[in-house]
Amino acid sequence: MLLTLTTTHQPATDLGHLLVKHPDRAHAFEVPVGTAYVFYPEAGEQRCTAALLLDVDPLKLTAARGRGRGRQSASTPESFTLGRYVNDRPYAASSLLASALSRVYRSALRGESRDRPELAATAIPLEVRVPVLRCRGGVAVATRLFTPLGWEVTATAVALDEQHPQWGDSRYVDLTLTGTSRVAEALNHLYVLLPVLDDAKHYWVAPDEVDKLLRAGAGWLAEHPERALIVRRYLAHRRALAGQALERLAAQRPTDEPVADDGIDDAPARDPAPRASLAARRREAVHAALVDAGAQRVLDLGCGGGALLATLIGDRRFTEIVGTDVSTQALALAARRLRLDRLPERQRHRVTLHQSALTYRDERLRGYDAAVLMEVVEHLDPPRLPALEDSVFGHARPVTVVVTTPNVEHNVRYEGLAPGAFRHADHRFEWTRAEFAGWVDRICATYGYSAALRGVGDDDPEVGAPTQLAVFTRI
Ligand code: SAH
Repeated sequence: MLLTLTTTHQPATDLGHLLVKHPDRAHAFEVPVGTAYVFYPEAGEQRCTAALLLDVDPLKLTAARGRGRGRQSASTPESFTLGRYVNDRPYAASSLLASALSRVYRSALRGESRDRPELAATAIPLEVRVPVLRCRGGVAVATRLFTPLGWEVTATAVALDEQHPQWGDSRYVDLTLTGTSRVAEALNHLYVLLPVLDDAKHYWVAPDEVDKLLRAGAGWLAEHPERALIVRRYLAHRRALAGQALERLAAQRPTDEPVADDGIDDAPARDPAPRASLAARRREAVHAALVDAGAQRVLDLGCGGGALLATLIGDRRFTEIVGTDVSTQALALAARRLRLDRLPERQRHRVTLHQSALTYRDERLRGYDAAVLMEVVEHLDPPRLPALEDSVFGHARPVTVVVTTPNVEHNVRYEGLAPGAFRHADHRFEWTRAEFAGWVDRICATYGYSAALRGVGDDDPEVGAPTQLAVFTRI
């Protein structure tokens, strides 16, 4: 099983830093089903390719499956068949390749790079090739899954036997994806979608698979038009798990959707007359804060799919609206939602989208009246937060900054959210009201701002409102 990743970003050998695998060496890793190798068939300044080869040992594979089954229920004698030892698993890319990928490229999947953090946060030209991919539904399904994520898909069915074309195609495709993407995004797409295309998960699907799926799908799965298919297949058609996953994804969508779809991020489901979704109330509160501040030229930092941008575009008081995000996928979704290509000229020049990482100073963001960080800070690893503080409050320095973030104390009011769990798989932390107030005080003292705090959503006498909002004003 082979998967190659090629870049022409220069110097192309930086790919080695992103994957944490030196291009001059071959690397071998023991994995539960065999051995995974990483090596570089080409490693020049102009073009560099990292290959991941998984050599499956059929005996180890059988042992690994036996273990999986043991966790699910007592093993049954039926499982001792030749098919367990003799099958196509060692030869076809599949869910096994995805689990090897998560083992071998672990930090790259998380978007971390000690030596090249900026490059890890940057979309670079990439080509992914999987020459033999077991693919249920063939070329059409591969195209439906990768195209909405911004990949140009070239997939050809592999003939069953080249000598006998009349026998038709095999179950395999030769897949090439071309696009501009962060390496972490590309790897997360593959980590989720390879097993989905395979549709024959090789291991027992445990409840924590939902968390794994939502973590890997952060930033792209919630709005993928084929998310139902992806979730069903990824969770091996286990209906209860798929239902939970879809519900949690719905809660992440910046809702233009019906309130009932807004899952845990909303009033409890039993509420007989649910009001506007929490996401909608947050947008309203942020919009009102911007209007109160008299802002005209505004930044929506970490704008995601652009729901707030859509609200702001609808208000003529805002003369210039800029959305930024680190994720090109999020920006592509925003552009589609806002129909930027179809806006009349008069409107078009009011709106701009930039790819930008909030952990780096960006000249383009200076000199605005206001900036919004709506449900963004909690997506950063705490050690990266000071870099965001510097770039927003220290460098961009808008007159007004509006920040929203979850109030973790309120989580006990969400049925269906496990104790101690965060509301979103990609949250790195969630703050109590005291913690948020402490952070706000520190920002004010460090950067010369004053601030007012309030809650958004129904205020609960014990645990407070679900969302916390701060309006900072430059002194
Ligand atoms: N503000 C939007 C999206 C919130 S989700 C809303 O409220 O609907 C968090 C967003 O922050 C994601 O789109 C994610 O891509 C973005 N993000 C996370 N880390 C970032 C960083 N370091 N720089 C810029 N954007 C980031």
